[in-house]
Amino acid sequence: MLAGRSDNFAIADTPGQALDEGWWSVADFVPMSIARTVLLRASRSTWLAEQFRRRSFARRAVRRFMPGEDVGAALDAAASFSTAGLGSVVTALGERVTTRAEAEEVRRHYIQVLDDIAARRLPTHVSVKLTHLGLDVDPALCAESVRALVVRAETNGNMLWIDMEESHYVDATLDLYRHVRAEHPKVGVCLQAYLRRTPNDLESLLAAGGSVRLVKGAYREPAEVAFPRKADTDAAYFALATRMLGATSSDRLQVFGTHDLALVERIRAHAQSKSIPRGSWEVHMLYGIQTAAQRALPTNGVPVRVLISYGSHWFPWYVRRLAERPANVWFVVKSLMS
Ligand code: FAD
Repeated sequence: MLAGRSDNFAIADTPGQALDEGWWSVADFVPMSIARTVLLRASRSTWLAEQFRRRSFARRAVRRFMPGEDVGAALDAAASFSTAGLGSVVTALGERVTTRAEAEEVRRHYIQVLDDIAARRLPTHVSVKLTHLGLDVDPALCAESVRALVVRAETNGNMLWIDMEESHYVDATLDLYRHVRAEHPKVGVCLQAYLRRTPNDLESLLAAGGSVRLVKGAYREPAEVAFPRKADTDAAYFALATRMLGATSSDRLQVFGTHDLALVERIRAHAQSKSIPRGSWEVHMLYGIQTAAQRALPTNGVPVRVLISYGSHWFPWYVRRLAERPANVWFVVKSLMS
């Protein structure tokens, strides 16, 4: 079992999570229901997590958002997506490890994953969190690990992505990214549209060369750091996306990580109107969300990769996803009855 807290961004990537984390404005959501409140409280319970993990109905229910706990299940899902013409990205749930031993284990794990992907000839990238690789423990160790992973990705003809975590990690993340990217181009980094600083960060990354995955942003941030209103984040996202599309080149891949289909359509239309070459940009979505669109978009000229999370620390991630849409609880009930 890989070490680390279970708070993968995927836990926080949903409107329900946003309600909990507080970066959506009052105008953007309906008041949190009692069901959501109960679920979000439950998501913090380690006792419940342990109880759920032991129950087969819970394991069945979680399958809606995650193909399985072990990397083999994630790679099997990646193989199925590949057959359907979709690429993928895999990531292990976990972050903020507290010891060198844990960080080194995570590095070894991802090296093996890169080799497994190569052995199975899958069109599958890997995405990592720097705090899962020990950024809080020893930044030099973390940088060494990222370098080792990018080198292995390059050797295997693959690519590594670096997630973006809370805003106080942005400088360290971008510094590390720039250092590694200067020697090894097959690495990309995530930027969050909700951060006020992101236009400047994007400019500096574009000037230095680099692949960017743009997302809206999933963490709780103060208003002076991030837009509190979702509408502002959405507007910033499109402005940043058009800037990225204006800077495509053969040595960088521009990625739009979003399930916002209206936004995807605006990006697609903009790329088409500017004759942006196909293959220079992609849309990435999370496993289990907008699945019909994931399969339909490529036929409309939009390449899609599905980000598949795996690992044993799924409980808070899953319950927060339920909290986002209490109607999802019915899937749990159905699983209980099946
Ligand atoms: P939203 O406006 O939140 O959602 C648009 C629409 O998508 C919704 O109206 C709904 O129809 C649908 N939808 C969204 N979520 C769900 C759901 N759970 N179930 C069903 N339908 C749903 N954040 C970070 O901070 N750092 C990262 O490194 C990071 N990496 C990411 C990588 C990828 C590939 C993706 C897709 C997201 C990543 N995120 C990351 C999360 C991101 O910041 C957002 O929190 C998340 O994508 C939700 O925003 P949205 O763009 O989908 O738009």
